[in-house]
Amino acid sequence: MKKILILTAGFGDGHNAAARNLREAVELVDEDARAETLDLFADSYGAFNTLARKTYLGMVAYAPRLWGQFYSLMENPFVEKQLGGFTRLQNTLEKVLAETQPDCVVSTYPVYGHVIKKIYSSHQERPFRFITVVTDSITINSAWFRAPSDYFCVANEATAEVLIKGGVPEEQIKVTGFPVDPKFAENPDELRQPIADEPRRVLYVINTGKKKAGKAIDRLLELDDVHLTITTGRDPELRAKLIERTRDQEHRVKVLGWTNQMPELLMSHHLIIGKAGGAIVQEAIAARCPMIVNQVIPGQEEGNAELIEKFNIGAVVEKNKEAAEAVEMAFEKRATLWNEWRKNLKKISRPDAAMKIARLVLDESENDFPGGKAVKLFDPSPARVMRSPQPANGHGGSAQMLLCDFHIHTNYSDGKLSVPDIIDFYGERGFDCICITDHLADPKRLLGKLAELANCTLGQGQIGEYFSVIERERQRAWRRYKMLVMTGIEFNKDGYTSKTSAHLLGIDLKAPVDASLEIPEIIEKIHEQGGLAVASHPHIMKSEWGKNTLYLWENQETFAPLLDAWEIANRNNIFNDIGLKRLPFIANSDFHKPKHIYSWKTLIHAEKDYEAIKDCIRRNEHVAITLYRDFAGAAKGAKHAFEPAATMPRLFEERLSLQAVNH
Ligand code: ZN
Ligand code: ZN
Repeated sequence: MKKILILTAGFGDGHNAAARNLREAVELVDEDARAETLDLFADSYGAFNTLARKTYLGMVAYAPRLWGQFYSLMENPFVEKQLGGFTRLQNTLEKVLAETQPDCVVSTYPVYGHVIKKIYSSHQERPFRFITVVTDSITINSAWFRAPSDYFCVANEATAEVLIKGGVPEEQIKVTGFPVDPKFAENPDELRQPIADEPRRVLYVINTGKKKAGKAIDRLLELDDVHLTITTGRDPELRAKLIERTRDQEHRVKVLGWTNQMPELLMSHHLIIGKAGGAIVQEAIAARCPMIVNQVIPGQEEGNAELIEKFNIGAVVEKNKEAAEAVEMAFEKRATLWNEWRKNLKKISRPDAAMKIARLVLDESENDFPGGKAVKLFDPSPARVMRSPQPANGHGGSAQMLLCDFHIHTNYSDGKLSVPDIIDFYGERGFDCICITDHLADPKRLLGKLAELANCTLGQGQIGEYFSVIERERQRAWRRYKMLVMTGIEFNKDGYTSKTSAHLLGIDLKAPVDASLEIPEIIEKIHEQGGLAVASHPHIMKSEWGKNTLYLWENQETFAPLLDAWEIANRNNIFNDIGLKRLPFIANSDFHKPKHIYSWKTLIHAEKDYEAIKDCIRRNEHVAITLYRDFAGAAKGAKHAFEPAATMPRLFEERLSLQAVNH
C-alpha cells in the first residue's frame, strides 16, 4: 500500500481544493493507495490559526490592499525565517512523519517546504519523496520555490518560467495544470456558441462584494437573451433577497445557495463572472468557460487575473457594474470575442491535471523504504480488524456490531458541514452506516415555504443534485472508510402547534418523494422504494430547539402500524414512552454540527449490508442504543479536538473500548 501525505492549509481557497482533488485522484488511479490530507496549521496552532484565518478574511473583505502587503511580506527572508521557526508546526510535522512513514509527501502550501528543509537539514536523508504543487499562477511568492522539492507541479508554462528564472532546475518542473476536480476530465461534451436568440448562459458567483451584486445583476438582465445562474454561497439572506429582486425574471434567473456542482455549472455555462480566486479561475480554465473577473484581491489573486489577460481567455473589469458590458461585448458580432476566448482556453485547458499529478506522485512512491510498519493514520480501520467474527443467530457468518446514525443534516438544509465533510467526519470515527437526512418542507404549508426561502431546507430545485452528490460520496465512503451511506430525507410537516407538527424520516431512498403528499402517502412512497419510515423526535424534547413535533405520537393508533420505527432517543433526549409502549426504535444524533456527535446512536448486530441493517430495524431485532462519546468529549468546547489530525488515531482506540462494552 502506497501512503501519500498531502499537506494543506485553509488560507484562501486554492490550497484545500488542490489537496482534496489530488487525494481523490490518487485513490482513483490506484485503489490500494491511501492518501490523507492534513492541515497542520489547524492542528499546531489552533487559536493562532483561527485568528490568522479571521484576519485573512477580514482583510480580504475590508482592506484588500493591506492583505497584499501582508502577502508580499512573506517574500521577505526575515519573515521566512520566522516561518521556518514555527517550532510547534515543526514538532507536529516531525511526529506525523515518524508515525505515518509516508512514501511521498505533497505540499499545496509554501510553508511546508521550509519546515521539511529544517527537519532534514542535518544531512539526514529524507526518507520520502517530496512534491510541491504550486497553487498560485504567474505572480508567485518566492517562498514556494526557495525550499527544495523533488518536483514542482505548476499550472502552466508561464508559471514554469517564473520558477526557472528563480533558479529551479528545469527537470524538476512539471507543467501539469492545476489539480481541479477529476470530474472535469470526464465530460467531453462541448458547449457550443449560442446562435440567434438562444440563451447566453451566464454564471454569476458571488463571494465578496455582495452589496453591489444586486445592481450588477439588474444590468445583466437588461441584456436580451442572457440567462443567469447565481450562486450566493452560504448566505441564505442574500439568496432570499436576490430571489425577491429577480422575481419578475424567474424564467431566466436561477438563484442557488452553496453548491457542490461547480464543475457541472461551469461546463454548462458560456461565461462565468466572479472574483479571481485560485481555485475558481483554474476550474473555469479546465471547463473552458471564459471568465469575467469583477474583483481581484491584491497579492495572490493578482496572478490569477493576470493569467486571464495574458492568455486572453476572458476579461478583468474595474467595477462590478461593468461586468454587463463585458458580457455584451463577448457575444456581439456573432460572438467573435467569445469564440476567441474559447479557442485560447482549449490551448491551455488541462482538465486531467489531478490525475497527472496523482500518477507522478504514485510513480515517485515506487521506492519501498524498509522498516515501515502499520501506521494509524493510514490504517483502513483498526477497529474493524479487531472485531470478533462471531456468527449471530439468523444472520450470516459475518454479522458484526455496527455503529449507525440515521439522522444527519448537511448544509443542503440547516447543517453546518457539507456532504463530503460529513463523510470524512463519520468515516474517520469508524462509523459503519450513516443516513443523510436533510429537511424537505411541505411547499403547500406556509411555514414550509418560509423555511425554504431561509435556506433551512432543501430547495425544490436542489433535490436531484442532492441525490447525485450523496451517490457519488457513497462510493467514496465505501472505497475509503468501508462505511455504508444511505440517502434520506426528513419530511417537515410543520403546523402552528406541536400537535399539528410532524417530522418523518425516509431512510435509504432511491428517489425524491413529494413532500406535499399526506403523511400516509409519503410513508407508502418510502416503502415502495424499499426505504424505512421513522418518526423523528416524536415526543417531548427536554432541551434543544423550539417546538415539539407530537402529531405522530398523538395519532399513534394510525401511524404505529405504518411506521417502521420511532426515534427512542434524539441527540440528548431519550423518550421513555417509546420504550414503555414497546415500539420498534432507533436512536440518532439529529446531527447539525460537530458537537452533536456526542449523542445517542444505534448499534445493530448484522452483516454490513444495506438490506440486512434495514431488516433488523423493521423486525426490531439485534438493535441496541448507545450514548456515544469519543475522547474529545472529555474536552468539550475544545474546538481543535474536531480536527482530524488531533482526533483520528486516538479515536480508533476509543472505538475499540466502545465495541468491547457492547459485545
Ligand atoms: Zn426534525
Ligand atoms: Zn433533524
